[in-house]
Amino acid sequence: MLRLTDTQTKSVRELAPATPGRLTVYACGPTVYRDAHVGNLRTFLLSDLIRRTAESRSLRVHLVMNITDVGHLADDTSLDATGEDKLLAQARREDKSPFAIARFYEQGFHHDLALLNIRPADAYPRASEWIESMIGLISRLVDAGHAYVGGDGTVYFAAQSYEAYGGLSGNRLSDLRAGHREDAEALTAGKRFHADWALWKLAGTAREMVWDSPWGRGFPGWHIECSAMSLDLIGPVIDLHTGGIDLRFPHHEDERAQSNCAVGGGAGAEVVRHWVHGEHLLFEGRKMAKSTGNVVLLSDVVARGHDPLSLRLAFLSSRYRQQANLSWDAIAAADGLLMRWRTAVAAWAEHPSAALSGDYSAAVLDAFEDDLDTPRALQSLRRLEKDASVAEGTKFETFAWADALLGLDLARLVGQPVVAAALPAGAAELLDERAAARAGKDYAASDRLRDELATLGVAVKDTPAGQEWSVT
Ligand code: AMP
Ligand code: ZN
Repeated sequence: MLRLTDTQTKSVRELAPATPGRLTVYACGPTVYRDAHVGNLRTFLLSDLIRRTAESRSLRVHLVMNITDVGHLADDTSLDATGEDKLLAQARREDKSPFAIARFYEQGFHHDLALLNIRPADAYPRASEWIESMIGLISRLVDAGHAYVGGDGTVYFAAQSYEAYGGLSGNRLSDLRAGHREDAEALTAGKRFHADWALWKLAGTAREMVWDSPWGRGFPGWHIECSAMSLDLIGPVIDLHTGGIDLRFPHHEDERAQSNCAVGGGAGAEVVRHWVHGEHLLFEGRKMAKSTGNVVLLSDVVARGHDPLSLRLAFLSSRYRQQANLSWDAIAAADGLLMRWRTAVAAWAEHPSAALSGDYSAAVLDAFEDDLDTPRALQSLRRLEKDASVAEGTKFETFAWADALLGLDLARLVGQPVVAAALPAGAAELLDERAAARAGKDYAASDRLRDELATLGVAVKDTPAGQEWSVT
């Protein structure tokens, strides 16, 4: 069974669904005011890998992913979000209605997911269509003494009313200081305690994306949307909750407090049984940020001539719980490997059929179930590729089976009229070595390996999409 790192206990724990045979997953989705960058996409891949691994053990997976189209303010790094709603700011920039912005980028998000073979979730609730439920949830929290109307008319969650606050991120209330100026200001404006956060904000001068509520016209805070949607669409027991590491605090810590208090199960009761966070992706060694111009989109990968699934393969080359440093060379190398495997799978398909390799398939599944050790799964497949003792038909069956986990369309070229000649023995390793040498900018080694490949009858050409080979 699948084991995953649990943020709360900081240990690798087996996923044990509350209802045998059915796994419920809530994944934090995109804030749809801009295109998702490749870092966001790596995080969205996480729930897809979990789904595929669980399904390989015949678990039925029910996955809900929210679409944030209201309430996510521009600065959500402090204890309480401040600033303008991200959607409204972008709408002003593009001179469009916030709904037009939200629907446009939401469509782009689905398009990107489809290109990456990320299977659609079972539900994509939109925050703007969940307002009534959020108001109901806030009312319950107010009635139960977990929330109050502040002096500024904002409805706040009373952080101190939840004893177990901090259990997810380690940020205990006693350690959180009102360090930010805006927190000190908020205290005088209406909060009772600096770590309290907004559940409902008054509209002020805002005209768009505002709704009537018992506390006046306004809009919800960001964290309450995920409590409302997950409790409504999954229920008070959620097997697994995913998101990027930056969401651990405050977003998930606050969601946990809201949900646990809403179901009233006492201090030890946990709505979410397992929290899993994907580490951040860097690109060319730097954080992805609009301010530094270091933002890469899937459309940029495609514009450089790469198969979009080369990005998926590049993601699989590192483990979700590790910070990964992606580069154009790594994507090009992944593209080369993808093409090589597709060509090999098509060539193996021409051979007499044979049974799946039990050893190799078990090794691949074991790697996935071991906290999604996708690099180890890829290593097993590289070994199988060059294992001369395994029949071609078996290689075909095993790669085709593994592709249900990998999602790389490895059988794409099967049955196509012209299948390029398979690589001679030893060439695959040299091509890998050469891609690695180029990624490390070791051009002397790259040239030497090109010569070695030539002696095996393999011509290599470097293109903007990476190295391409042909058998001469
Ligand atoms: P957003 O659309 O900003 O709400 O983010 C969507 C998801 O992407 C969240 O789960 C974030 O934690 C995650 N995320 C943001 N930046 C990165 C990054 N550089 N690498 C991986 N995940 C990220
Ligand atoms: Zn969320």
